[in-house]
Amino acid sequence: MTTAPRFRFAPSPTGFFHVGGARTALYNWALAQHLGGTFVLRIEDTDESRNSPEWTQGIIDALGWLGINSDSPQFEGPYFQSHNADKHIAAAHRLFEQGNAYWCDLTSEQIQERAKASGKQGYDGYSRDRGLSAGPGHVLRFRVPQGTTIVHDLVRGEVEFANDTIEDFVLLRSNGSPMFLLANVIDDIDMTVTHVVRAEEHLPNTPKQQMVWDALGVTPPIWAHVPVLVNEQRKKLSKRRDKVALEQYKSDGILADAMVNYLMTLGWAPHGDTEIVPWTTMVEQFRLEDVNHSPAFFDVKKLEAFNGDYIRALSLSDFIDACQPWLTASDVAWSPAQFDADVFASIASLIQTRVAVLSEVASMVDFFFLPDAPTDDASWTKAMTPEWAHDVLNECAREYATCDWNHDSLKLVLETIGTNRDLKLGKVQAPLRVAITGRTVGPPLFESIEFLGRQRTLARIGVALQRLG
Ligand code: GLU
Repeated sequence: MTTAPRFRFAPSPTGFFHVGGARTALYNWALAQHLGGTFVLRIEDTDESRNSPEWTQGIIDALGWLGINSDSPQFEGPYFQSHNADKHIAAAHRLFEQGNAYWCDLTSEQIQERAKASGKQGYDGYSRDRGLSAGPGHVLRFRVPQGTTIVHDLVRGEVEFANDTIEDFVLLRSNGSPMFLLANVIDDIDMTVTHVVRAEEHLPNTPKQQMVWDALGVTPPIWAHVPVLVNEQRKKLSKRRDKVALEQYKSDGILADAMVNYLMTLGWAPHGDTEIVPWTTMVEQFRLEDVNHSPAFFDVKKLEAFNGDYIRALSLSDFIDACQPWLTASDVAWSPAQFDADVFASIASLIQTRVAVLSEVASMVDFFFLPDAPTDDASWTKAMTPEWAHDVLNECAREYATCDWNHDSLKLVLETIGTNRDLKLGKVQAPLRVAITGRTVGPPLFESIEFLGRQRTLARIGVALQRLG
């Protein structure tokens, strides 16, 4: 009888939820859905000095944001590793009783001295046959057998480890607490995990863990180590150097669907010629055998390009809803009384085509809500430096006082002013844009001006002319 596969995601709650962790979680979730299995969430909270309940909540919230919902029937947990300490210790004692583990009283200084004297690094198995019992200062070590250990990894193929390169590793510390390697295996056995899909950095642990599975007489899981994420210098993403917190991308205005889609493509590609595909398609197509084992470049520009596509695919009303958190944030330029939701709804389509991340929205529309054009000195200098800027604005003000008020004629007027001076529209519109919107980039200019109305437009051009002197 084949049983339904059981995947697990086993983060340590020691900091912001990392995009690499998010990718691992999604791979497990996609597989659980594809194969009709279960996704177990296990919080590996045994490092008391670094854990915090906020980080745990952060993980659960982040998974929910990615669509890995704890109320889905395929989701199980969260379990907490710290609640299982008795099982970890019991398993360690069983390994001792079976002869797969032994106690050792050497201090780390003594181990170093022995290593120095023999010229061989690491612990040399000194206590293997000394018959020590548990006692103060004693650690329990696994007796690594002779031979080789072959890890069958669905991503990396067969990876062979010579056992004589693996020292007799510690299972229980001298204070009796279980080490990560042991706790992680015992929990996987306890939770009847069939597939361990995790980050490549754990591959060196795998032969040791497989030995523990074997020693306990349980068939090891199917292993799959997914490739490391690197930055543009091809260096492993690090929280000191790179933006790695999922939360930060969320608050920048990356849509959850875009994030999910992008993360899935870090090491894998959907079939067909576009990488932008819905979740259901990814679930259908995703296979560990197709995951690449070379490092995957976490390219923020590409993520933003994905996001732009997802933003444009939203219906207008979904786009307006998605913008709300950024329109009501505490750092917007306008006061709540100045904001007008109807105005935003009427101009939203102008900006939906232009933004890559939703956090850009507020600064693109602030000029509609503020009484005057916002001031941005860099934009001002850039646009107003040409000596013709004053005359162009002046002429524009004169024509705009009487011309038809629609974006086509507003554009034609400025185009003609430019042509008379041998200047392209792209050039002559820069001073006008800054006079009206305060910035050199923003939503389509003539549509914006049409919307702003004749009176406010003329007033803003007037202010700019005054400033130009
Ligand atoms: N708790 C480990 C980590 O966050 C994961 C171990 C595993 O997936 O086996 O790196």
